[in-house]
Amino acid sequence: MPITRRSLLRAIGASAVAGAAVQPLGGVLSIAAPPQDPSLSPILLYHNENAYGPSEKVLAVLRDAASFSNRYPRTECDTLIAKIAALHAVKPEQVALGCGSSEILRSAAAEFVGSGKKLIQASPTCAVLGKFAQASGVEVVDVPINKMYQHDLGAMLSRVSGSAGLIYICNPNNPTGTLTPRRDIESFIHKLPATTMVLVDEAYHHFVNPNRDYASFLDQPLDDPRVMVVRTFSKVYGLAGLRVGYVVAAPEVARRFSAERLQSGMTVVSAKAAAAALDDSEYVRFAIKRNADDLQDFMNRVNGYMLRALDSHTNFVMLNPMRPPEQVIEHLKKNNILIGPFIPAMPKYIRVSLGTPAEMQQFWNAWGLLPATGKMAM
Ligand code: PLP
Repeated sequence: MPITRRSLLRAIGASAVAGAAVQPLGGVLSIAAPPQDPSLSPILLYHNENAYGPSEKVLAVLRDAASFSNRYPRTECDTLIAKIAALHAVKPEQVALGCGSSEILRSAAAEFVGSGKKLIQASPTCAVLGKFAQASGVEVVDVPINKMYQHDLGAMLSRVSGSAGLIYICNPNNPTGTLTPRRDIESFIHKLPATTMVLVDEAYHHFVNPNRDYASFLDQPLDDPRVMVVRTFSKVYGLAGLRVGYVVAAPEVARRFSAERLQSGMTVVSAKAAAAALDDSEYVRFAIKRNADDLQDFMNRVNGYMLRALDSHTNFVMLNPMRPPEQVIEHLKKNNILIGPFIPAMPKYIRVSLGTPAEMQQFWNAWGLLPATGKMAM
């Protein structure tokens, strides 16, 4: 049985009763427990992982797969590719695997930019691709997001010219957690030069609140060989530590990604676990609902403290702490809680990944120890 919010809340309820006082917090009741012992391992609210881990079914496969650790991968990757292809109704030749989606992003930086061809991306966005491109001397054009915290596609288009090799669109975007409307992305793609490739990163796809502004480029594909879609097993499936991601693209493009790969680079254990995760669609549905509940709980606290947060379609939240973000990050660190790094492009915000209810309780306990708004050095 997966861990449910209710069972976890029951568990923390029992420990809270032992030594905690209940305090009203701007209309919200909170349990003020003493701060966590800093010698304990930190609470990780910084990498947008799935704090609950994989499903029980996947854990069972993982335990079993460990006994194949003496073997090089044989058919496991092909099996995984076949499952991914079936899930998205594409041909297996259209799928390439990666060591996390990070490897796909690295391959994109190696394949589609450089030699005078630049990368165009939003600012802020997920830094992985931009960092790989920059490290190999590629020109990276960072285009600030608009006032609605969406990709400013008009401004991105104005930076394209003939020399844009690759456009990176992270939707929902990390670190903002916001969506850029599908119709706007489509009309943007139609205006691009024939030689400009587009990489749509759907790492947080599963967490999107269904709405008419969003449709995955895998669920509703464009018949356009320039469009590549990258996904990861690190988020809803809870397998960040096993490093599995993939890209779906035109067969000739997917071949280029596969050619960039280290042969036998994916472990037997990772491939088997990822395949089992795809089979366990019940857990995916459960994890989506659990995330929606956790997000709602978080927003209730945000409102209770009269803070501001961006409307998130992910498993993390961009929060305006109404205090200098760097000091808040430091304060939480001292209390054994790690949140996302300071984001220069959004200097008033912090990024908090959603943890388990027990972890979030620790987060809010530490929050309660912050000096009142206005009492921190600005
Ligand atoms: N893309 C996005 C949008 C991310 O936020 C991340 C990591 O958080 C990645 C890609 C890389 O993830 P991984 O390499 O674990 O698949």
